Amino acid sequence: MTTEKIMDFPVDIINYDDVIDDLANYLQTDKKMSAISVNPQIIIEGQNYPEIQEFVKESTHRIPDGIGIVLVSKLTGGQIKERVAGIELMFRFLDYANAYKKSIFLYGAKPQVVTDAAKQIKKDYPNLILSDKIDGYTNLSEEEVVERINRAKPDFLFVALGFPKQEEWLARNIERLDVSVFQDVGGSFDVLSG
Ligand code: UDP
Repeated sequence: MTTEKIMDFPVDIINYDDVIDDLANYLQTDKKMSAISVNPQIIIEGQNYPEIQEFVKESTHRIPDGIGIVLVSKLTGGQIKERVAGIELMFRFLDYANAYKKSIFLYGAKPQVVTDAAKQIKKDYPNLILSDKIDGYTNLSEEEVVERINRAKPDFLFVALGFPKQEEWLARNIERLDVSVFQDVGGSFDVLSG
Protein backbone atom coordinates (compact mmCIF):
# COMPACT_ATOMS: atom_id res chain seq x y z
CA MET A 1 0.00 0.00 0.00
CA THR A 2 1.35 3.44 -0.89
CA THR A 3 1.07 6.21 1.66
CA GLU A 4 1.26 9.95 1.26
CA LYS A 5 1.79 12.60 3.94
CA ILE A 6 -0.50 15.58 4.26
CA MET A 7 0.68 18.01 6.96
CA ASP A 8 2.47 15.14 8.69
CA PHE A 9 -0.57 12.85 8.61
CA PRO A 10 -0.20 9.60 6.68
CA VAL A 11 -2.99 9.01 4.17
CA ASP A 12 -3.15 5.78 2.21
CA ILE A 13 -3.70 5.73 -1.52
CA ILE A 14 -6.54 3.22 -1.50
CA ASN A 15 -10.07 2.78 -2.74
CA TYR A 16 -13.08 0.89 -1.36
CA ASP A 17 -12.21 -2.36 -3.12
CA ASP A 18 -8.64 -2.30 -1.74
CA VAL A 19 -9.98 -2.05 1.81
CA ILE A 20 -12.54 -4.81 1.28
CA ASP A 21 -9.91 -7.03 -0.38
CA ASP A 22 -7.83 -6.73 2.80
CA LEU A 23 -10.75 -7.56 5.08
CA ALA A 24 -10.72 -11.32 4.64
CA ASN A 25 -7.05 -11.49 5.62
CA TYR A 26 -7.63 -9.64 8.85
CA LEU A 27 -10.74 -11.62 9.72
CA GLN A 28 -8.86 -14.89 9.27
CA THR A 29 -5.98 -13.91 11.55
CA ASP A 30 -5.60 -12.32 14.99
CA LYS A 31 -4.36 -9.13 13.42
CA LYS A 32 -6.52 -6.08 14.00
CA MET A 33 -7.62 -3.84 11.16
CA SER A 34 -8.34 -0.18 11.85
CA ALA A 35 -9.88 1.97 9.14
CA ILE A 36 -9.52 5.56 10.26
CA SER A 37 -10.92 8.56 8.43
CA VAL A 38 -8.30 11.14 7.60
CA ASN A 39 -10.36 14.23 6.88
CA PRO A 40 -9.47 17.96 6.96
CA GLN A 41 -10.64 18.22 10.59
CA ILE A 42 -8.33 15.51 11.88
CA ILE A 43 -5.42 16.89 9.86
CA ILE A 44 -5.86 20.45 11.16
CA GLU A 45 -7.11 19.92 14.72
CA GLY A 46 -5.20 16.68 15.12
CA GLN A 47 -1.97 18.71 15.26
CA ASN A 48 -2.91 19.43 18.89
CA TYR A 49 -3.35 15.74 19.74
CA PRO A 50 -0.04 13.87 19.53
CA GLU A 51 -1.68 10.63 20.70
CA ILE A 52 -4.16 10.84 17.83
CA GLN A 53 -1.35 11.49 15.35
CA GLU A 54 0.44 8.44 16.69
CA PHE A 55 -2.74 6.38 16.53
CA VAL A 56 -3.33 7.35 12.90
CA LYS A 57 0.26 6.46 12.04
CA GLU A 58 -0.22 3.00 13.55
CA SER A 59 -3.62 2.35 11.97
CA THR A 60 -3.69 -0.19 9.19
CA HIS A 61 -5.89 1.86 6.82
CA ARG A 62 -5.85 5.67 6.81
CA ILE A 63 -8.62 6.50 4.39
CA PRO A 64 -8.68 9.70 2.31
CA ASP A 65 -12.04 10.86 3.62
CA GLY A 66 -13.21 13.87 1.69
CA ILE A 67 -12.74 15.82 -1.47
CA GLY A 68 -10.55 18.29 0.51
CA ILE A 69 -7.92 15.59 0.95
CA VAL A 70 -8.01 14.73 -2.76
CA LEU A 71 -7.63 18.43 -3.63
CA VAL A 72 -4.71 19.04 -1.26
CA SER A 73 -3.00 15.95 -2.60
CA LYS A 74 -3.45 17.18 -6.15
CA LEU A 75 -2.20 20.69 -5.32
CA THR A 76 0.90 19.32 -3.62
CA GLY A 77 1.77 16.92 -6.43
CA GLY A 78 0.41 13.85 -4.63
CA GLN A 79 -1.25 10.72 -6.02
CA ILE A 80 -4.57 10.54 -4.15
CA LYS A 81 -7.21 10.57 -6.87
CA GLU A 82 -10.18 9.02 -5.16
CA ARG A 83 -12.11 9.86 -2.04
CA VAL A 84 -13.09 7.09 0.38
CA ALA A 85 -15.98 8.40 2.49
CA GLY A 86 -16.22 6.96 6.00
CA ILE A 87 -19.96 6.32 5.80
CA GLU A 88 -19.67 4.69 2.39
CA LEU A 89 -16.93 2.42 3.72
CA MET A 90 -19.15 1.54 6.67
CA PHE A 91 -21.86 0.50 4.16
CA ARG A 92 -19.28 -1.68 2.39
CA PHE A 93 -18.35 -3.29 5.72
CA LEU A 94 -22.03 -3.88 6.46
CA ASP A 95 -22.49 -5.45 3.01
CA TYR A 96 -19.61 -7.78 3.77
CA ALA A 97 -20.96 -8.61 7.24
CA ASN A 98 -24.33 -9.33 5.66
CA ALA A 99 -22.85 -11.56 2.97
CA TYR A 100 -20.65 -13.57 5.37
CA LYS A 101 -22.88 -13.47 8.48
CA LYS A 102 -20.36 -11.50 10.50
CA SER A 103 -21.16 -9.70 13.73
CA ILE A 104 -21.11 -5.98 14.43
CA PHE A 105 -21.20 -3.75 17.53
CA LEU A 106 -22.31 -0.11 17.52
CA TYR A 107 -20.84 2.29 20.08
CA GLY A 108 -21.76 5.95 20.19
CA ALA A 109 -24.42 8.60 19.44
CA LYS A 110 -27.51 9.48 21.44
CA PRO A 111 -29.55 6.55 22.84
CA GLN A 112 -32.44 6.97 20.41
CA VAL A 113 -30.06 7.50 17.49
CA VAL A 114 -28.09 4.30 18.06
CA THR A 115 -31.33 2.36 18.62
CA ASP A 116 -32.80 3.65 15.36
CA ALA A 117 -29.52 3.09 13.50
CA ALA A 118 -29.47 -0.51 14.77
CA LYS A 119 -33.05 -1.05 13.57
CA GLN A 120 -32.26 0.37 10.15
CA ILE A 121 -29.15 -1.81 9.84
CA LYS A 122 -31.10 -4.95 10.78
CA LYS A 123 -33.69 -4.05 8.14
CA ASP A 124 -31.15 -3.31 5.38
CA TYR A 125 -28.67 -6.07 6.26
CA PRO A 126 -30.81 -8.92 7.67
CA ASN A 127 -28.08 -11.58 7.62
CA LEU A 128 -25.47 -9.84 9.74
CA ILE A 129 -25.41 -10.37 13.49
CA LEU A 130 -25.95 -7.24 15.54
CA SER A 131 -24.23 -8.39 18.70
CA ASP A 132 -24.89 -5.35 20.87
CA LYS A 133 -24.86 -1.56 21.03
CA ILE A 134 -24.00 1.14 23.60
CA ASP A 135 -24.87 4.80 23.24
CA GLY A 136 -22.21 7.48 23.45
CA TYR A 137 -23.57 9.09 26.62
CA THR A 138 -23.75 5.91 28.70
CA ASN A 139 -23.11 5.90 32.45
CA LEU A 140 -20.98 2.80 32.00
CA SER A 141 -17.30 3.31 32.76
CA GLU A 142 -14.72 2.85 30.04
CA GLU A 143 -13.81 -0.50 31.64
CA GLU A 144 -17.42 -1.63 31.52
CA VAL A 145 -17.81 -0.58 27.89
CA VAL A 146 -14.68 -2.55 26.99
CA GLU A 147 -15.93 -5.58 28.95
CA ARG A 148 -19.28 -5.51 27.20
CA ILE A 149 -17.65 -5.32 23.79
CA ASN A 150 -15.29 -8.15 24.70
CA ARG A 151 -18.19 -10.30 25.85
CA ALA A 152 -19.83 -9.77 22.47
CA LYS A 153 -16.55 -10.37 20.55
CA PRO A 154 -17.85 -8.67 17.40
CA ASP A 155 -16.06 -8.90 14.08
CA PHE A 156 -16.65 -5.18 13.48
CA LEU A 157 -16.78 -2.30 15.96
CA PHE A 158 -18.10 1.05 14.73
CA VAL A 159 -17.29 3.95 17.06
CA ALA A 160 -19.37 7.12 16.68
CA LEU A 161 -18.26 9.57 19.37
CA GLY A 162 -17.13 12.36 17.02
CA PHE A 163 -13.62 13.82 16.75
CA PRO A 164 -11.50 13.74 18.92
CA LYS A 165 -13.31 11.44 21.37
CA GLN A 166 -13.61 8.45 19.06
CA GLU A 167 -9.94 8.50 18.02
CA GLU A 168 -8.79 9.01 21.63
CA TRP A 169 -11.04 6.21 22.82
CA LEU A 170 -9.78 3.86 20.12
CA ALA A 171 -6.15 4.81 20.79
CA ARG A 172 -6.60 3.94 24.47
CA ASN A 173 -8.53 0.72 24.02
CA ILE A 174 -7.82 -0.97 20.70
CA GLU A 175 -5.13 -3.24 22.15
CA ARG A 176 -7.42 -4.77 24.76
CA LEU A 177 -10.48 -5.18 22.54
CA ASP A 178 -11.37 -8.58 21.17
CA VAL A 179 -12.46 -7.20 17.81
CA SER A 180 -11.10 -7.72 14.29
CA VAL A 181 -12.10 -4.55 12.46
CA PHE A 182 -12.42 -1.03 13.88
CA GLN A 183 -13.81 2.05 12.24
CA ASP A 184 -14.37 5.60 13.54
CA VAL A 185 -17.61 6.73 11.97
CA GLY A 186 -18.39 10.23 13.33
CA GLY A 187 -22.00 11.18 12.65
CA SER A 188 -22.83 8.07 10.59
CA PHE A 189 -25.35 6.63 13.10
CA ASP A 190 -27.23 9.94 12.88
CA VAL A 191 -27.39 9.56 9.09
CA LEU A 192 -28.49 5.92 9.38
CA SER A 193 -31.16 6.69 11.95
CA GLY A 194 -32.81 8.99 9.40
N1 UDP B 1 -21.22 11.78 20.41
C1 UDP B 1 -21.31 10.84 21.43
N2 UDP B 1 -20.78 11.12 22.64
C2 UDP B 1 -20.17 12.31 22.91
C3 UDP B 1 -20.05 13.25 21.86
C4 UDP B 1 -20.58 12.96 20.60
O1 UDP B 1 -21.86 9.77 21.23
O2 UDP B 1 -19.73 12.49 24.04
C5 UDP B 1 -21.81 11.45 19.11
C6 UDP B 1 -22.88 12.43 18.62
O3 UDP B 1 -24.10 12.16 19.29
C7 UDP B 1 -22.90 12.09 17.16
C8 UDP B 1 -21.48 11.61 16.86
O4 UDP B 1 -20.85 11.52 18.13
O5 UDP B 1 -23.77 11.00 16.93
C9 UDP B 1 -20.69 12.51 15.96
O6 UDP B 1 -20.71 13.80 16.48
P1 UDP B 1 -20.32 15.06 15.60
O7 UDP B 1 -21.29 15.24 14.51
O8 UDP B 1 -20.06 16.18 16.53
O9 UDP B 1 -18.90 14.57 15.02
P2 UDP B 1 -18.29 14.54 13.57
O10 UDP B 1 -19.21 13.74 12.65
O11 UDP B 1 -18.18 15.97 13.17
O12 UDP B 1 -16.99 13.86 13.81
